[in-house]
Amino acid sequence: MVKIDKFERPIISLRISITNRCNVKCFYCHHDGIIPQKYEMTPEEIMRISQVAKNIGIIKIRLSGGEPLIRKDIIDIVNSISKIGFTDVSITTNGILLEEYAQPLKDAGLDRINVSFDTLNPETYRFITKSDYVNQVKRGIEKAVEVGLYPVKVNMVVMRGLNHEEIWDMFHFCKETGAVLQLIELLKTENCPDEDFFDDYYYDMSIIEKKLLEKADNVKTRRFMQDRKKYYLEGGEIEVVKPMDNTEFCKNCTRLRITPEGKLKPCLLRNDNLVDLMEPIRRGVSDEYLESLFVEAITNREPYYAGC
Ligand code: SAM
Repeated sequence: MVKIDKFERPIISLRISITNRCNVKCFYCHHDGIIPQKYEMTPEEIMRISQVAKNIGIIKIRLSGGEPLIRKDIIDIVNSISKIGFTDVSITTNGILLEEYAQPLKDAGLDRINVSFDTLNPETYRFITKSDYVNQVKRGIEKAVEVGLYPVKVNMVVMRGLNHEEIWDMFHFCKETGAVLQLIELLKTENCPDEDFFDDYYYDMSIIEKKLLEKADNVKTRRFMQDRKKYYLEGGEIEVVKPMDNTEFCKNCTRLRITPEGKLKPCLLRNDNLVDLMEPIRRGVSDEYLESLFVEAITNREPYYAGC
């Protein structure tokens, strides 16, 4: 039975960060709002938490990080979670290891995948990530489509002067590959780098949305997906992920998060209301007790940006 918080938001999705470690260093990364810790949950602990989440009405699980594909046990983790019976099991990855992992992930029961890929230009990629994996990521995206992960979404954080002029190239790459482009507005959080980075690179997505509206054959708004707009054009699709630091985002937020060390995190933008699950799990508590901790986190859920 789906739980509804006191702001009438159904809690249906869980994003589990399974590691803090990453194989690239994107200069803008907000690390999913998580303060880095050394500890990582075991596959058994991740599976237990997922099962309890299912019991309290969660229907969608997304694995994230850090970079989830650098965990050697990623296939076991996906295998055990997908057996629980969620409507949707997905991963967000930077795609560097995807060519190798796409088929095993599909075989393990993964439904779909989001690949963070901001540029096709090797120099810009190097500037953003301090690495040279453009072709590897492209092959990873192609492979994910080929093995039948669906949909394969490409997450492009749009940054002024860095990649904002590449949107159409990226759109055509995605269309030709069979992937869907998601444009993401740069977000400023307390985990982000220095003060200037946001002023230097922030790009107002309403400029793109205006162009998309002119070109689109059809536009759909996705309720409970933060009212995201999906534009259909030239036989392809582009989704625009609205900024997260506003009341609309909070109003439609249906997600809980789990940090790599096993704390329930009710809000991307806050770290002062986490609920620890690992200490009770190690103490040997029952599933019912863990469910009550989920309910506690849901009950105390407050929109970060009030007004919803
Ligand atoms: N390593 C995985 C990946 O690259 O997808 C998962 C973690 S990464 C933190 C998750 C997503 O957050 C990526 O799509 C990334 O582009 C996005 N992201 C990170 N920092 C951001 C920021 N400051 N503004 C907007 N999106 C950001």
